Formats: sequence, structure tokens, C-alpha cells
Amino acid sequence: MANITDTQRALFDSRANDELYQSALAYGLEYLHQIEHRKVAPDAEAIRNLDAFVEPLPEQTSDALQVLQKLQKYGAPATMGNMGSRYFGFVMGNVVPAGMAAKLLSTFWDQVSAMYITSPLAARLEQVVEGWLRQLCGLPDSVVAGFVSGSSTANLCGIAAARYRLLKNRGWDVNRQGLRQAPALRILAGNEAHGTVLKMISLLGLGLDEVQFIDTDAQGRIRVDDLPAMDDSTLLILQAGNVHSGAFDDFASVCHKAREAGAWVHIDGAFGLWAAAAPSLKHLCAGIEFAHSWTMDGHKTLNTPYDSGVILCADQEALIHALHLNGGYIIHGNDQQRDSMYYTPEMSRRARIIDLWASMRFLGSTGIGALVEGLHQRAQQFAAELSAVAGLQILNEVVFNQVIVAASEDEKTEAVLKYVQEEGICWVGGSTWRGRRVIRISVCSWTTTPADITLSAASFRRACDQLTTATEAALPE
Ligand SMILES: *Cc1c(COP(=O)(O)O)cnc(C)c1O
Repeated sequence: MANITDTQRALFDSRANDELYQSALAYGLEYLHQIEHRKVAPDAEAIRNLDAFVEPLPEQTSDALQVLQKLQKYGAPATMGNMGSRYFGFVMGNVVPAGMAAKLLSTFWDQVSAMYITSPLAARLEQVVEGWLRQLCGLPDSVVAGFVSGSSTANLCGIAAARYRLLKNRGWDVNRQGLRQAPALRILAGNEAHGTVLKMISLLGLGLDEVQFIDTDAQGRIRVDDLPAMDDSTLLILQAGNVHSGAFDDFASVCHKAREAGAWVHIDGAFGLWAAAAPSLKHLCAGIEFAHSWTMDGHKTLNTPYDSGVILCADQEALIHALHLNGGYIIHGNDQQRDSMYYTPEMSRRARIIDLWASMRFLGSTGIGALVEGLHQRAQQFAAELSAVAGLQILNEVVFNQVIVAASEDEKTEAVLKYVQEEGICWVGGSTWRGRRVIRISVCSWTTTPADITLSAASFRRACDQLTTATEAALPE
């Protein structure tokens, strides 16, 4: 090869070097095999060592294997151990091996889900999984899906579709006419709506002050009796899975009624919508089929690799118009050839459908149901074991995979949290819920066993014992 630059030579050399990719795989496997034997959160030394990354951008092209080795040496120890079986922070899934392997393989393909022409494979898999999700959740045939980075973006898509349709009902084309003089919409949401729902309402110019927040009960469910009359300018936002309690809104009482009134119902079901796929839990989702848009994440309950979210929408025209994009260079597929970008805000996206497809194809419908039910059972076990610890109280009804626990006072709750996080047997996060400091536990990993729950509950018990000892020591003589 004459006339290639030194940099191009270095690139060809690194690609030809199988050791580079084999090292990545070997490091990854070593990581997975070690993950249960380290503290869940990175230790102080690992965090200090991140300073190794603080350097000026090198002037010269270097050796790719050395770059990888630097990442392995200083990066791996500073990762959060959410791939282990005792990570209960936020609501974060583990990874189904088939999904991980598919992601690994498809990394080499680097497919782009924009148009049919950019990746016929991704386009076909999106169509297939769209059908599977409809079937799994019991949604109507008209429902289409967009495959996005997570429920944040999926909420954006659903609310944008609602905005488009509700304004169209009033003879207003928001794409052309904008919002400045648009007819008023009425937005109803529970006062425990997820932060990303609020963020997307403001991002879409609908205005948080315009939202009518509906009171919720002790579990965070909308009080159905407090819902005002609705019409075809109303957007009602419901929740399948409260991020604290895991509670589900009463869809059966609300969705059909709202639809009859002409309102648009959007359900934020980031992790909870998967209950629909589990025989013993699907009652929680009764009535969702009357909504218009739904969000769900692959990367939470289903345990696909990050990042993977889905917008499902029964009004294809509204979704496509809300997210539309045009450009002279775009090559459209025919009716059978799905152009994925019409269903998402982005144009170029990695073909995350491949890992979602592989995870679902591997688990099958029974496996998905069993995975979801397993998370629920582990959460119930966690709650049972913690309620036996003196000084701790479970604050929620464990209807799904979330457990909220607290000590008698905020300071004690903080002390327990700190102890458990530092001990590193498991990792749980703190939060404030209904005016009280709480510890939030989310059982979301397929790898968590009953033994993991018992080990984790023991860490809480030590935290409480230590607290009692400390309090006794502090008592005046
Ligand atoms: C996690 C979550 C979101 C945000 O989803 P991302 O996938 O993190 O973007 C929205 N709503 C609920 C209820 C969630 O649990």
C-alpha cells in the first residue's frame, strides 16, 4: 500500500491484530467471573486511580492494545458492579447472556437503524419484535414500536405524539404552526409522575405549570376519584411501576373511560409494563390496552444490555408526524421495508434491536414471564427478611420488584444506608419518599438468587446492630 499515512497504517495494523479484540473479550470474561468477589461499588483507591485518565490528548497515534490495557487497568476497577447479583440501586437490569453475545457479535457489524436501506436486518428485526411486544402486552394490532435509548426518550415520543394528535383534534398543526398561539391542552399526571415525564413535558413546550397534578394514595397511585372530566384536548399520563413503591395506577378504572372521552392516555411503564408478560402479575396491567402510548425499557426488567427502550403507540400517524424528518437524500423503503427513523427522534442509531431481539428470542414468552415473576419473588423475600430486622420498617406493598425500607428516623436510615453501601455486600440507593428518607431496593437482575437476598439482608442486620451499639455507647452514664 503506497501513499497511506502513518495513522492509517496504525489503524490497519490494529484491525489486523486479533489480539486486540481477543484481549477485549478476555478482559470482559475475567470481569464477569470476578464480579461476585468484589465490593459492589468501586473502592476509594479505584476512584483515586481515575486520575490516570487525566492527561492531555496525546499528539501521536499510539498502540491500540495499550489503550485497551489502560482501560482495563484503571477503568474496570472503577466500574459500578451492576453486573453482579446484589446490585439493587435505582431500577437497573443485568444482562441476559444471549443479548450480550448478540451485542458483541453485532458490534463488528456496526449497523445503523435509520432506514431500511441502511440495515435491512435491523429493519426486519424491529418489525418482528414490534409484533412480539404487542402480543406479550396484549395490545391492539394497530400498535407500532420505536426502539430508543430508554424510557426518557420513549416518554418524549409518546408525549410528542399526544401533543400532535390532541392539537390536530382542534384543527391545529403543531409542526407548522408551533405552540405560541396553539389551543390549550389539559395535561393530567399523578403527583408521583417520573422525573423524565416532567422533563419531556417541559422540553416539548407544554409547560409544567400547565400540568394538573392529581393526588396519589399511600402507594403513589393516582386517586381515580380526583380525576376531572376529560375531553379530546386532554393528555392523561399514568404509570405502570412507581419508581419507589412499584405501584401501578388503576388502568382498568381509568383508561377506557379516558378513551371514551377522547383523551390521550400515555402510560409510563419503563419497568412495570413487563408485568403484562407474567401470568401471576398481569392483573396489574389490566386495562392498559385502552391507552394510546406506552413506554418500556429493555434494559430494566427484561435484562437486555444498555441502552434499550421502546415507545409503543396505537396511533401510527401521530407518532410518525410527531417525529418526522425529511431530506432530499433520504431513500424510503416500501410498505414492507420499515424505515426505523420515522418512529424515533434520532436518525442514526446503533441497531440495539439486535440485542433486544436476541434476549427475547432466547427467553421466549414463558421465560420472560418467569424472569419477571422471579424478580417479584426475590423482592417479597427481601421485604420479609428485612421486616424481621429490629428497627427497620417496610413502607410499601411489594406488588412488583420494589421494596422501600426505612428506620424510625431519617438519621438512622442514612446511617444504615451508609453502612450497607460501604460494606459492599450489596448496593442500594437512598431517596426521599412522601417526606421521609428511605432506602430504595430494586430487584431487577436475573442473577439474584434467594441466597443473595439473605446475604444482603444480613448486611442490613449488621447495620442496625452497629447502630444500636453506637447509640448505647453514646448514652450518658
Ligand atoms: C427508569 C424510568 C424512566 C426513565 O427511563 P430511562 O430508561 O432511564 O431513560 C422513566 N420512568 C420510569 C417509571 C422509570 O423507572
